[in-house]
Amino acid sequence: MSGTAVDGTVRHQLESFAQRVLSGGQIDRDEAMWLFNLEKREDIIDLMSWANRIRERFKGNKIHLCSIVNAKAGNCSENCSFCAQSSFYQTGSPKYGFIDPEPLETAMEESAGNQVTAVGMVAAWKGLNEGPILDEVCDRIRQMKESGKVRPDASLGIIKKQEVADRLKQAGLECYGHNLESSRRFFANHCTTHTFDERLQTIEYLKKAGIKICSGGIIGMGETREDRCDLAFDLRAIGASVVPVNILNPIKGTPFESVPPMEPLTILQTIACFRFILPRKEIMVAGGRTLNLRDLQSQIFTAGASALMVGNYLTTLNQSVEKDLQMIKDMGLDPSWDGHDFSESDFTEQSQCGSTCDCSGTV
Ligand code: SF4
Repeated sequence: MSGTAVDGTVRHQLESFAQRVLSGGQIDRDEAMWLFNLEKREDIIDLMSWANRIRERFKGNKIHLCSIVNAKAGNCSENCSFCAQSSFYQTGSPKYGFIDPEPLETAMEESAGNQVTAVGMVAAWKGLNEGPILDEVCDRIRQMKESGKVRPDASLGIIKKQEVADRLKQAGLECYGHNLESSRRFFANHCTTHTFDERLQTIEYLKKAGIKICSGGIIGMGETREDRCDLAFDLRAIGASVVPVNILNPIKGTPFESVPPMEPLTILQTIACFRFILPRKEIMVAGGRTLNLRDLQSQIFTAGASALMVGNYLTTLNQSVEKDLQMIKDMGLDPSWDGHDFSESDFTEQSQCGSTCDCSGTV
């Protein structure tokens, strides 16, 4: 199937895929690759326009807002090539131990005041085992839950035992962030200290514990269009409820510091393809959007995004929350999410497949 057909063929093919998705059907991998391979500007704009209709059909005009708080910074044992917090690289990024209750309380208050639905507690370490740190993590989750201000989310790396996931659930955790980061094929290009399968296993433990999954990845690391397509299908298979799309922000001192930026239109095309593949999910644009999209940031919603990471990322700055809220309102969308929870249908329908690490791409 070619993405360079002429005389309206592309337009008709696009419409046919879109109408199928709008009526509850799915596209397969070959069809999705045809979307990823569209090259003409007018075809990509057409693709975005259909992605926008799919977002409207399944997500309405509500934009789900999330923010994160860095609960333990720097000195991570892992070697993720995009990450400012890895101990393998000299990046000048902050380093501190596990967060006290007070700064967490402040972060929750600020987020609630900005109409943010959920705050994710993110830690720069390989993962979570039973022991005193897990006890502290559970205490913080209970603190967030009892405040009633925001939904407590967490992104705490790899989990190696079902009991750990069960403890998080008992403490009140509703959603865990664990990005797949990239396709299985590309994974070893950015991390060799843990594997794609360890990530999938973590997701299985979390799902078994009844915790919803926030999982996406980072684009712009040098991966191919096929890699992006495979990532989206893996995310469909694991049944991620929220799918963060980060765009690489090359951090000085990391192996990816000189990776050339993606074209803004290709970023929007990727978001639109994700919307076709994951029509009912919260597709959340997260790290790297200000740097990479510049004046086209508001077009992420036209391309099918239904959620936005607001506030600063883990080690890089974002534009102000006020500016993001204004951008959403200017697009005629509603940032005042009132559902608090993800739809159950999103969670139960996902017995297809899984998600990742903590700070991925939000660095
Ligand atoms: S992405 Fe997460 S696991 Fe990887 S180096 Fe950064 S903090 Fe560690």
